[in-house]
Amino acid sequence: VIDIKHLSKSFGQHEVLKDVNFSVQKGEVVCLIGSSGSGKSTLLRCINLLEKPSGGAIIYNGENILDDKHDIEKYRTHLGMVFQQFNLFNNLNVLENCIVGQQKVLKRSKQEASEKALKYLKVVGMEKYQHAKPRQLSGGQKQRVAIARALAMDPDVMLFDEPTSALDPEMVGEVLKVMRTLAAEGNTMLIVTHEMEFAREVADRVVFMDKGVIVEEGAPEQVLADPKHDRTKEFLKRTL
Ligand code: ATP
Ligand code: MG
Repeated sequence: VIDIKHLSKSFGQHEVLKDVNFSVQKGEVVCLIGSSGSGKSTLLRCINLLEKPSGGAIIYNGENILDDKHDIEKYRTHLGMVFQQFNLFNNLNVLENCIVGQQKVLKRSKQEASEKALKYLKVVGMEKYQHAKPRQLSGGQKQRVAIARALAMDPDVMLFDEPTSALDPEMVGEVLKVMRTLAAEGNTMLIVTHEMEFAREVADRVVFMDKGVIVEEGAPEQVLADPKHDRTKEFLKRTL
C-alpha cells in the first residue's frame, strides 16, 4: 500500500531520518522498534505528513504523494492514526467522537456514520459506553475508542505510535488484545511499539531502526530471536 523511498528528514542540522526505504503491503502487520530518539515517531509523522519530509518519496497507489500537485487531505483520509495520547474530543461523547470525522471528512450521513461507529465500538468492546464522555473512561478505554474512531474511517492502513505506552500496566493488555484481533482480521497495520512479546506474536515483519536508519528487518523470529546486526542485539539485550 505504501512504499517509502530514500526518505530523509532533518530538523535544522539534525538529520533524524536518513535514506529510509521500506514498504507496507496490503494485509501486512509491520512492527517498528528501536530506542528512544531513533526516529520512529518522525517516520510515522512523515508518512501521514504531520511532518514534511526533507527528501525522498512516499508512493501510495502508484503516486508520489510528495508531489506538489497531490491532494494531501484526500491521502490522509486513507490513513488511520492512533497516538500515545488518545486525542479524543473531551466535549463530545464516545459515539460523537467516532462520528464527526466521518461526517466532516467523508461526508457520510449521520445515520451511516453512527452505524459504522457502533460497528467498530463493538469490535473494541466499547459500545456500552457510547454515551459516556472521555473523562469518564480509563486510559485503556479511551485508547480503544480512539482505535474505533480511526477504524470507522475505513482506512487502508492503520498507523499506531506506541498506543500502550501512556497506559497503566493493567490496561495495556486490553488494548493489545484489540490490536491482536485487528491483525488477525487482516488489517494493514504499521505499529511503533516497545512491546516485544506483542511484536513477536502479531508482526509479519519487524523493522529495527537506530539513529534514523533502518538497520535490519525481517520475520519476527529472525529479527527478535536471531538478529544479524550488533546494534539490534544490543537494543534487544537492553529491552529484555
Ligand atoms: P521515542 O521512542 O522516545 O518515542 P522516537 O524513535 O519516536 O523516540 P522521534 O520522536 O522520531 O524518536 O525523534 C527523533 C529525533 O528527532 C530526536 O532526537 C528528537 O529530538 C528529534 N525531533 C523530533 N521532533 C522534532 C522537532 N519537531 N523538532 C526538532 N527535533 C525533533
Ligand atoms: Mg516516538
